[in-house]
Amino acid sequence: MMIDLRQVALTYQAPDGEVEALKDVTLSVEDGEFVSIIGPSGCGKSTLLALIAGLETPTAGTVMVDGETVTVPSPKIGFMPQRDQLFPWRSIWGNVTLGLELRRQNTPERQAHVRTLLERYGLDGFAHKQPAQLSGGMRQRCALIRTLATEPKILLLDEPFSALDHQTRLSVSADIHRIIRQEGKTSLLVTHDISEAISLSDRIVVLSHRPATVKSIHDLSVLHRYAPMERRAQPEFQTLFHHIWKELDIND
Ligand code: ADP
Ligand code: MG
Repeated sequence: MMIDLRQVALTYQAPDGEVEALKDVTLSVEDGEFVSIIGPSGCGKSTLLALIAGLETPTAGTVMVDGETVTVPSPKIGFMPQRDQLFPWRSIWGNVTLGLELRRQNTPERQAHVRTLLERYGLDGFAHKQPAQLSGGMRQRCALIRTLATEPKILLLDEPFSALDHQTRLSVSADIHRIIRQEGKTSLLVTHDISEAISLSDRIVVLSHRPATVKSIHDLSVLHRYAPMERRAQPEFQTLFHHIWKELDIND
């Protein structure tokens, strides 16, 4: 089991009182699996990722990553944020090697690996360009390569496509998904887009309103053989969409 949460709770101590963010969350993600987390806004999704990343400590329960209880941020984890957060004054090369610099891992071996990733994913001609010279999709690919540069086992993606317009989002999410599969990473994606979750995942975890608890888990193995865009054309897609949409009903 790559990620394993058992009866996890987290209550924030805020100046104006306590905020119960998570309550009794039990879920696990297997090695190489792609799991999406979907839930109402403010229910505790980012908090869940922060716990797995070792940035927050649970009030109750256990959080394990790759067989070890999480106590501090782990190099096994790579994080992809909501916006690509590329630094405009750094070249693409300067951006994709930033994580290595920060971790003092900017070795020739790691640099060679980054160069391979840039080549493999069609960015080798752009190393000396500035982020502003790239399309939204290419920038996302750079952000992913920067995350992959430190060779994490697990990727945590917190609504990474939400800054993109709808059309771009469709192709960029499929593109990023392909790279993640090819690199064989275990991934946990937070999204509020039901279609996106169905088109990309092996399983979908639906969370309740805050304090979040697991409402249901959907296994998508019937769609496994289809690529993200093809999934959208399958009858199972519609059925699942309506099912999850009802579960997320804002009136409940
Ligand atoms: P989501 O990502 O699902 O939108 P979050 O995990 O960011 O939700 O937040 C869950 C709840 O916890 C929200 O009510 C939010 O305001 C609150 N919260 C998040 N971070 C903190 C914090 N550091 N201190 C106090 N409350 C917080
Ligand atoms: Mg969030």
